[in-house]
Amino acid sequence: MSRAFNFSAGPAVMPEEVLQQAAAEMLDWHGSGMSVMEMSHRGKEFISIYEQAESDLRELLAVPANFKILFMQGGGLAENAIVPMNLSQGGAVDFVLTGSWSQKSQKEAGKYATSRVAASAQADGFTSLPSPASWHIGADSRYVHICSNETIHGVEFHELPDLKALGCDAPLVVDFSSHVASRPVDWSRVGLAFGGAQKNLGPAGLTLVIVREDLIGRAMPHCPSAFDYKLVNDNQSMYNTPPTYSIYIAGLVFQWLKKHGGIAAMEQRNIAKAQLLYDCLDNSALYVNKVDKACRSRMNVPFFLLDESRNDAFLAGAKARGLLQLKGHKSVGGMRASIYNAMPLAGVQALVDYLREFEKTQA
Ligand SMILES: *Cc1c(COP(=O)(O)O)cnc(C)c1O
Repeated sequence: MSRAFNFSAGPAVMPEEVLQQAAAEMLDWHGSGMSVMEMSHRGKEFISIYEQAESDLRELLAVPANFKILFMQGGGLAENAIVPMNLSQGGAVDFVLTGSWSQKSQKEAGKYATSRVAASAQADGFTSLPSPASWHIGADSRYVHICSNETIHGVEFHELPDLKALGCDAPLVVDFSSHVASRPVDWSRVGLAFGGAQKNLGPAGLTLVIVREDLIGRAMPHCPSAFDYKLVNDNQSMYNTPPTYSIYIAGLVFQWLKKHGGIAAMEQRNIAKAQLLYDCLDNSALYVNKVDKACRSRMNVPFFLLDESRNDAFLAGAKARGLLQLKGHKSVGGMRASIYNAMPLAGVQALVDYLREFEKTQA
């Protein structure tokens, strides 16, 4: 059996080297006589896996010493509740709506805080980013939330907003689920960043939270203990049993990233892959991507066939060539190619070749 090119938005493609290593270590991890999934999370074997993963991630993302890395569960959606429970103290919080994910976050926060909209790109169908100078952030804001890569609409912040320059002292909360580790992070602008692992880091089940330490310890009384950042941090992410196998696989991905040049090299590869695909779409008479060029995502590329009656034929032809999961999200329609870190240039090239060939057969 040969492996296809998988363009799924998540769970998503994994580096093949990582899958092979995990397979080789499945029954007996480093002579321990156990699979990682059979180990106690408090045993010395797993602690060593955890500590290596934490320190590799800290190095890769250049996380400053005053930020804590928490390995949690519940995914990005759970963080939509966990963040306000930990940071809002029931006060007011501001959201910038740039697509489905920030919309969801804003709605959920309303259960725990006064959840306001500082700006929204809904009027143009979420194809642009409202400029930070236009955001209405309250003076009483406990935090400002953005989704730095909108997985469904294909909109990405190529630079994080500088809230201090806007005269705002509130911390910036960033949902970076779908582009974490695809580019460097400017931590001087961030209070907290969170993301589910299943887009760019590893298997589902692990949720990454990176939080400035002065923001820890403010949870509302009804916050579940397992979701209280202080308890999680005080117990090195082992207040409850962490998703051990997902942490192990993510750790292998971190080693793979280091071996292949780290985040800077990954960013260059991602720029090249995205350029190849967008150029093909922009130079075609059949396909269109509607997102403002200034904020097109390097990770998630939604596109439409101008003749939508050809959608099924397009997908069937793609599948026959081993180009999988290209159907767009049902809320947007059309197609979507997710080209995360683990998608090789050859995969994007194969997609571009197919796009050109399919367009020719339609002429
Ligand atoms: C996938 C995704 C989520 C949701 O993650 P779950 O793990 O399903 O909760 C949240 N935000 C963004 C930007 C995502 O891409």
